[in-house]
Amino acid sequence: MKKRIICYVTVIAIGFVSAVGLCLKTLFAPKAVFSEEVSQMKVVVDAGHGGMDGGVVGRVTKTKESDLNLQIAYRLKDALEEKGFEVVLTRKTQGGLYGAPTKGFKRRDMQARRAVIEREKPSYVLSLHQNFYPSKSSRGAQVFYNGEYDEHKAFAEYIQAELNGIYEKQGAKHRKVSKGDLYMLQCTQAPSALVECGFLSNALDEELLISAVWQEKIAGAIASGVLRFLSESAT
Ligand SMILES: [Zn+2]
Repeated sequence: MKKRIICYVTVIAIGFVSAVGLCLKTLFAPKAVFSEEVSQMKVVVDAGHGGMDGGVVGRVTKTKESDLNLQIAYRLKDALEEKGFEVVLTRKTQGGLYGAPTKGFKRRDMQARRAVIEREKPSYVLSLHQNFYPSKSSRGAQVFYNGEYDEHKAFAEYIQAELNGIYEKQGAKHRKVSKGDLYMLQCTQAPSALVECGFLSNALDEELLISAVWQEKIAGAIASGVLRFLSESAT
């Protein structure tokens, strides 16, 4: 008899837990319309520099910015694809996009990146870079946007907030988005952000930026920022 009661109680408990689980699942599941919207969206991820142009170099390890940008670009591609976006990379290898390394290569490289954006007509553009200041103390990520569009500022702010979230736990101070008169932010009217992922002029940031774990965190934070911007602007 006692056994049977225990059995009934167990069945009722399992039933209750499943019902609550199902209820929570329904409450927190992304709306079908929303996931459909994401699946139709393309993001161009641009790893800055490459080839002859290595960008800035880490003070301690001499790691090239161009290599870090590419590593983070691939991690960001994975993070965005996991959320349902289609992703196109401007640069897929360590080489630049300028063709022959002759005079005017930098201009040709930038035009090739713009051509990818014009061809793909993405919903969003994310250009990845690493910062370098003469002062060794500056830390954290900094997101730049095209000041002509309010929407681009909001897009940058969501990404900045997510990046601040991970950097502040590492002792870096809160950073704000900045307006930037930058070529990669002027290729399309679609929300675009240039993300300086950290400072290669600071030893602590550099140590983080060269690690796979931190690169994953940076990629995850940027992808979350994009999704939060999308969900907030959809409501
Ligand atoms: Zn750069």
